[in-house]
Amino acid sequence: MTEVEEVRLSLGTAIQMGLVDGRPDPAFSTAFFMTYRKGRCIANCAFCPQARGSKSHSDWLSRIAWPVFPLADALDGLSHTEGFNRVCIQCLNYPHFVDDVEFMARRIRDVSSAPLSAATGPVTIDEMVRLRDAGVDNIGIAMDASTPALFSRIKGVERGANFRWESHIASMKEALKVFGPGQVTTHLIVGLGETEAEALEFLKVMHDLGVGVGLFAFTPVRGTALENHPPPPLSVYRRVQAARYLLFNNLLPASKILIGSDGRIGFDVDSEWLRETLSAGTAFRTSGCVGCNRPYYNERPSGPLYNYHRPLTEEEVEQALAESELM
Ligand code: SF4
Repeated sequence: MTEVEEVRLSLGTAIQMGLVDGRPDPAFSTAFFMTYRKGRCIANCAFCPQARGSKSHSDWLSRIAWPVFPLADALDGLSHTEGFNRVCIQCLNYPHFVDDVEFMARRIRDVSSAPLSAATGPVTIDEMVRLRDAGVDNIGIAMDASTPALFSRIKGVERGANFRWESHIASMKEALKVFGPGQVTTHLIVGLGETEAEALEFLKVMHDLGVGVGLFAFTPVRGTALENHPPPPLSVYRRVQAARYLLFNNLLPASKILIGSDGRIGFDVDSEWLRETLSAGTAFRTSGCVGCNRPYYNERPSGPLYNYHRPLTEEEVEQALAESELM
């Protein structure tokens, strides 16, 4: 196994740990690590600052800066900081990256018993077993796009990358066997060019597979291939959030979550029931692994907040419901 000497931490994580000056956020609940290498990821996802073809600053992932630290400092920070409910390792794609992630996971396990996630591309069953045995509880294999064609355009064949829709799906099925039900997640980035019907179909397919879905709003980052692509309309994002929440919490069967003649997501239920069921605001909070809230990952602190990383106020719930245009 290779020795890892340096890692990246999300700026927010480094602030929470006191490794960088800044005001800690009491709601910050996940410590985000990222593998570090000199050079970029060998994949080429069109939205990603770490992509091989990106001209972005290589410190960035989404709209977040990820400074480099000695692993020993990051582990020390992790062991001395209260409030982390989960640790997540973001994995760049490069030869033998699993060796580095396995090493990091073992070292993290030495100092923390918090649930540990790894967000990675498809890996072999043997590699999954190695990660699980090193202490990784949950694996995330990001689809990002909701259809095979969009996947090809955003991160597959048309990007000159090795990722394939079919092998990502196959890898998630294998991961369910290794990590168990409830321990495999994927990402859906809303706003890459899909229709609401395609986003909804993706949610239903993942739900049937038993794979959890973390929702992201597309965020243009300068220097990436999609730097001029707009973020999704808030109303679309709110409807996708509502569909995910109702489906994955088994509050509504898939047959009652429909696409109307206007192409929008709708629900075949009484509108009062819908308002009441969404009134806690949970549908509009960050989704993904349990305990992960990714503050300001795809939004500016000044808003609009696509994913709320904390409980919503009553006014914010009303606002989110109005934005959904569902009632
Ligand atoms: S695999 Fe991950 S880090 Fe690499 S380009 Fe794609 S999104 Fe970025």
